[in-house]
Amino acid sequence: MAHTTDVIVVGLGAMGSAALYHLAQRGVRVVGFDRYAPPHNMGSTHGL
Ligand SMILES: Cc1cc2nc3c(=O)[nH]c(=O)nc-3n(C[C@H](O)[C@H](O)[C@H](O)COP(=O)(O)OP(=O)(O)OC[C@H]3O[C@@H](n4cnc5c(N)ncnc54)[C@H](O)[C@@H]3O)c2cc1C
Repeated sequence: MAHTTDVIVVGLGAMGSAALYHLAQRGVRVVGFDRYAPPHNMGSTHGL
């Protein structure tokens, strides 16, 4: 079975997560990647 996506978001802090959420709400097929497992303390959104 082929898997397709319209948009790939790299980085799931506040900005990436919001983009991913709003695209998905509009029916866009999205995939998000982060180098850590959000929430984590290695970005501005959750960390220092
Ligand atoms: C102490 C502090 C206080 C703040 N207070 C305020 C405030 O009062 N009001 C306000 O408006 N803003 C505030 N900010 C700013 C706000 O938090 C940031 O502007 C916002 O969270 C940035 O979100 P972002 O998604 O762009 O970045 P980030 O939250 O940093 O997300 C980036 C994500 O990308 C991932 N990533 C990075 N490189 C890669 C890679 N190569 N591959 C995969 N994933 C990757 C990271 O792991 C991270 O999860 C504050 C920031 C700090 C640090």
